[in-house]
Amino acid sequence: MPTEAFDIPRSYTGDLSAVVIPEGMIKDRVRRLAHDIHSSIGSQPLALLCVLKGSYKFFTALVDELTSARFDCPHPMTVDFIRCRSYEDTQSTGSVEIIGLSNLTELEGKNVLVVDDIVDTGRTLSRLLHKLKESGVKKCWTALLVSKRVPRTIDVTEDFVAFQIPDKFIVGYGLDYNQRFRDLRHICVMSNSGIEKYKNLE
Ligand code: 5GP
Ligand code: MG
Ligand code: MG
Repeated sequence: MPTEAFDIPRSYTGDLSAVVIPEGMIKDRVRRLAHDIHSSIGSQPLALLCVLKGSYKFFTALVDELTSARFDCPHPMTVDFIRCRSYEDTQSTGSVEIIGLSNLTELEGKNVLVVDDIVDTGRTLSRLLHKLKESGVKKCWTALLVSKRVPRTIDVTEDFVAFQIPDKFIVGYGLDYNQRFRDLRHICVMSNSGIEKYKNLE
């Protein structure tokens, strides 16, 4: 969809070529996803694990929906945070850095819903799930904002997926390009001039 039809801040004018998923559609989809999560695993006590930085918006929206009174949830949920880093420029680097913000031993014996932004090769999520298993979590599910429709050599569990997209590099709604665009309200594709502009920025 053309960017002119959407509320895009002036600072990003010209940096984007299209809006792929508008904020309103994300909100609607997250509401439905929360319903699906609640129907299949919501009766159990859950620890929600936010994978920073990319999933910060998705996580907040999902937690808000999951804790809605309409689900009449019998258990309070806990929230924890971890940071994974794997991308440089617009390519997956192959090495995954996992930085614990919460103490992972706190998740021992718990049912954990891992909330992540996007699965591309699956390497990041697979490493994280492995690490969680090592830390003694009881059971793990994954909730993903976006899954890229690409052939995967790494087998990774995708339990709850909000959107499937073709193999394009996207930004916005938490997703960055060199730390920019996380604050953008919609999920967008960058223009070539936008990529050039932010390529070498720290
Ligand atoms: P994977 O390890 O599955 O190849 O990559 C997952 C991580 O790479 C994501 O958590 C995200 O940080 C980053 N990533 C993958 N695809 C995209 C994309 O299209 N846009 C952005 N901004 N980040 C991506
Ligand atoms: Mg991520
Ligand atoms: Mg990134």
